[in-house]
Order: sequence, then C-alpha cells, then structure tokens
Amino acid sequence: MHFELPPLPYKKEALEPHISKETVEFHYGKHHQGYVDKLNKLIKGSEFENASLEEIVKKADGGIFNNGAQVWNHTFYWNSLHPNGGGKPSGKLQELINRDFGSFNEFKEKFTNAATTLFGSGWTWLSVDKDGKLVIEQRSNADNPMRDGLTPVLTCDMWEHAFYLDRQNRKPEYLEAFWSLVNWDACEERL
Ligand code: MN
Repeated sequence: MHFELPPLPYKKEALEPHISKETVEFHYGKHHQGYVDKLNKLIKGSEFENASLEEIVKKADGGIFNNGAQVWNHTFYWNSLHPNGGGKPSGKLQELINRDFGSFNEFKEKFTNAATTLFGSGWTWLSVDKDGKLVIEQRSNADNPMRDGLTPVLTCDMWEHAFYLDRQNRKPEYLEAFWSLVNWDACEERL
C-alpha cells in the first residue's frame, strides 16, 4: 500500500480570516504531507505493508502508529472544517448534544475547556462511545478514539503547529476560529 496526501476539500486560503493560508500551507503541505511520507517509508517490509490506514490506526504501535494516526487525524480535521461552517449543529447531532451535555453552549464550553487545557501536543475529540453516548476526550500526541472502539465525530488539532503562526500561545482565540469553521453537516454524517 502506498498512501497519498488526500486533497484539501477547499482552497488553502478558504479558511481565512480564521485560519490563514500560511498556516494551511505549513500544516497541510508540510506537516500532513510529512506524516504521509514517513508512513510510506516505515511500512515497507513491515507487517502493515498492505494494511489499510484504519487498520494501522487501530492496531499498529510505535512510529507506524504515530505517523499513520497523524495522517488519519489530519484528514479528519480538514474535513471537519469548511469555509461556510460555524453556527450550530441541527437534526440528530443537535438532539444528542442536548441530551448528553444539556445544551449546545454547555457542550461548546466543555470542548473548548478540554482543548485549551490539553497539556502538550494532542487532539480534542467528540466521539460516540460504545453505549451511543457523546463524549469529549483529550488525547495526547497521535492518539485516536478508534483505538478504544469509539466513533469520532469532531476533532480539534491542539499541536502548536495548528495555531502558532496565527495565534502564538492564544489557544482560546484559535478555538474561536475553530468554532467559526466547524462543518456540522460532515459531523452529523459520522454518527
Ligand atoms: Mn496538525
């Protein structure tokens, strides 16, 4: 298997003014691409040479896991955003958020708090657990909820490379930008 960098679902400048073209150029063009390239090198001759990306995320360890999960996580992140995103979810996702967090605002506050307090590099996730309940989790480095049988719905990249060029250490500002871009229709399709 040879993995390719999946195309961005919009132009590199399309997320401005929330996320700059420069950030996307580095984040997608250098970091995401770098994980793809490293993964392709590492799987050669390994037991994961012919595995799907999802199998790698669920079963691999060490460098193959780290790079494979970072490829998956970034593709999921880019597809969680849209230039016409933002606002609130509707339909089934709105119902579940109200049921499991009380209201959209309470959900947003909890997710923002989880993201801005994550220590070190990692990702903040909204997922569906094995009982069908929505949960917010902080996961370090490349860690992914599918490792534990959860279904990811939304993620926010909290590695510094995701926001440092635009926001330096101002994580709450990055989260505001993130909320202005969330593609709720894509999230609902993941349920
Ligand atoms: Mn990243």
